[in-house]
Amino acid sequence: MQSDEKYKSLVSFNRLILAVPHPDDETYYSAGLIQRLNSLGKFLKVIVMTKGENSTLRYGVLENENLPDVREKEFMKIIRILGVTHYALNKFKDGGIESESDKVSKYLSSEIEGIKPDAVVTYEPSGVYGHPDHVALTKIIEELSKIYPFEIIYLTVGSSYNTFEDAVHMAKDPDSIKPIEPDLVLKLTSLETINKLRAILAYKSQFKFDLEFVWKLLRRRLLTREFLKLNV
Ligand SMILES: [Zn+2]
Repeated sequence: MQSDEKYKSLVSFNRLILAVPHPDDETYYSAGLIQRLNSLGKFLKVIVMTKGENSTLRYGVLENENLPDVREKEFMKIIRILGVTHYALNKFKDGGIESESDKVSKYLSSEIEGIKPDAVVTYEPSGVYGHPDHVALTKIIEELSKIYPFEIIYLTVGSSYNTFEDAVHMAKDPDSIKPIEPDLVLKLTSLETINKLRAILAYKSQFKFDLEFVWKLLRRRLLTREFLKLNV
């Protein structure tokens, strides 16, 4: 078990919200964190803002199948795999977090007022790879942190992660993307790693399972490590 100061700060939080824009964001960057917080008996609500209907990826999805329905089913699978008891999959517009920011902020305010979290977990300010929804949601949460008494835990990546080979084409300004450095590297247990892999594989409409995919996962170390930045 990790014993450094930052890990102690992480586990000192008792009530947390993890908020991300798209189904699968919660899995790639924080499936281990979700499992860890659950196993420590923390209150955690996983909030996904959109059903990811604008994804151009539809692996294995039939012509007559509706992508948001498929992604919702996939999300429900990972909820079970990761042992999540509190969650919400919302219907804000995929790609519309910024244009709907007032509505999103209002919704999150009501969640925060109900849950009274001591920490909210979300993407680091450049959204790891600059997706406008990631960036916009983080901005909204940063604004809310000035009103409500919670700390922000940022999800970020390690130095071996090369943003530019990823989805930077979705970014408005690719040159400005520089994920912040983590100050806590969460080392996943074998069980957490296995469940994270199971969860990633459950999102089968969103990736092509081939050697390149496996290689990417391994090289980024995202299966065994998660990278966090705590502001405390
Ligand atoms: Zn996303």
